[in-house]
Amino acid sequence: MQRWNGWGDESIDYPLHDSARRYLETLVGPGSPTTDADQHSVLQSVPASRLPEHPLVDAAPLTRLLHARGQSLPDWIALRSGRVNTFPDGVAYPTTSQEVRQLIHFAAQAGAHLIPYGGGTSVVGHINPLDQGAPSLTVDMRRMNRLLNFETDNLLATFGSGITGPDLEAQLRAHGCTLGHFPQSFEYSTLGGWVAARSSGQQSLGYGRIERLFAGAQLETPQGLLELPAFPASAAGPDLREAVLGSEGRLGLLTQVTMRVSPLPEREDFHAIFFPDFEHGMAAARRMLAERLPLCMLRLSTATETATTLALAGHEGLINALQTLLKARGLRQGKCMLLVGFCGKPGVVQFARSQALAAAAAHSGIHVGKVFGAQWHKNRFRTPYLRNTLWKLGYAIDTLETAVSWSRVPALIEAIETALRSSQAGRMHVFTHLSHLYLHGSSIYTTYLFPLSADPEQTLARWQAMKSAASQAIQAHGGTISHQHGVGADHAAYLPAEKGALGMQTIRQIASSLDPQGMMNPGKLF
Ligand SMILES: Cc1cc2nc3c(=O)[nH]c(=O)nc-3n(C[C@H](O)[C@H](O)[C@H](O)COP(=O)(O)OP(=O)(O)OC[C@H]3O[C@@H](n4cnc5c(N)ncnc54)[C@H](O)[C@@H]3O)c2cc1C
Repeated sequence: MQRWNGWGDESIDYPLHDSARRYLETLVGPGSPTTDADQHSVLQSVPASRLPEHPLVDAAPLTRLLHARGQSLPDWIALRSGRVNTFPDGVAYPTTSQEVRQLIHFAAQAGAHLIPYGGGTSVVGHINPLDQGAPSLTVDMRRMNRLLNFETDNLLATFGSGITGPDLEAQLRAHGCTLGHFPQSFEYSTLGGWVAARSSGQQSLGYGRIERLFAGAQLETPQGLLELPAFPASAAGPDLREAVLGSEGRLGLLTQVTMRVSPLPEREDFHAIFFPDFEHGMAAARRMLAERLPLCMLRLSTATETATTLALAGHEGLINALQTLLKARGLRQGKCMLLVGFCGKPGVVQFARSQALAAAAAHSGIHVGKVFGAQWHKNRFRTPYLRNTLWKLGYAIDTLETAVSWSRVPALIEAIETALRSSQAGRMHVFTHLSHLYLHGSSIYTTYLFPLSADPEQTLARWQAMKSAASQAIQAHGGTISHQHGVGADHAAYLPAEKGALGMQTIRQIASSLDPQGMMNPGKLF
């Protein structure tokens, strides 16, 4: 069963070795475990629903609690402390487009706000009901989760928008294909959520971000059906798919989504290469990009993240052997790890590997084989479970991300980390990697960890100070407020600086032409 106040399946844990715990204690001091609110008492705080009854709407307190929050740190603080405060007034699980239309009509008649809901894995407050006076209806799309059409010749697959990552990949595998979209939330996030939040998967270098994969859709809006046909390419004026990507539930509900899929790769290898420092790693990665090598992933950790990853990895024997090897080759403090993914036919993988290793060697990279890459690949959807373990030990962990041109990457990493550290007096640990690399720049993904305060309001206030300092640093250094998590409620205040007044007016007008009453997920995005 899925945890109601944490990440993932209750039967899955991510235990932390004693050495890893000691490492954390040295960095940030002992954790301060807090007592979680029990579900029964939180259910007592769910108020009566303000929605009229409807056969498709479930107003049971448990259902409403389970749809009240996503996965951001403030969401966790609310759920763990039992101070949830706002709940949807009802939840519907449509199974057809016709039911979706009925629900839009019902919400419009009831003067209710409607919140499209995929897997609820948002980390920026996308699906949280806001206290805006009107009742809210959450529409959970996960029962619209079938493969509706597979076009073998065109390599196009149409799904119900509520399909989750594992189901989608299983359906495609039966046809010898993959979408290749693997966000770390893959287990629970849905196709509709990926499109609506403009998500990026870990192998975006090879397969593309969701924008490249998204071919077409059906969007049910308060003004009717908007159909987006799947052309291979088109010069027929502005591409309306771009308006739907990142629309965060403000334009309507995606019911069917058509995706561009690829044949399953015959081979998939992930290798680790270590560099004396971040600059050498960055230079090697940029060379691989400039040579346009057929890679499916690049991920470069800073020295602090590299040290943290190795310390938390657990396998002490293996890590010691690696440290000895790297030391013998002259790599000590400051070394940085680059993970490189190769996917495709064996010949392509072999070619890409030899070219990438040559580029790495030209920048003093030391190739250590596939073991670390394979470990990363094996655990890539397990690492979010570490959040549960850390919370139990009394630590909060959060991530933030942006993207910027190459020339600004080092300064922006420094600015984000400094902003986080200087925004509060308490001890914390901060580390960063480049997770999605492009020829013209890179995303920056920063993780920060600090001991919980005894008072949840204080933990929240500390988070707010850190988040706002880091967001300001991002904007001051020319970064986007989000590379992949989206805007939601948490980043909405920063959007006008990025889009400008005319840009914001255009976004609002697009929304109001499809949703004149402003009933679709208000308060998110803008
Ligand atoms: C542990 C963890 C790891 C993560 N890793 C990544 C990552 O690697 N890459 C990444 O990009 N993101 C990541 N995320 C963020 C999150 O998973 C993504 O934003 C994801 O796209 C959200 O999908 P979802 O189905 O859970 O959508 P939800 O959280 O349910 O909703 C997100 C937004 O999409 C809208 N929406 C959902 N379904 C529909 C629909 N059918 N029609 C219209 N609007 C809809 C909602 O209204 C909301 O505004 C991570 C989150 C967590 C908790």
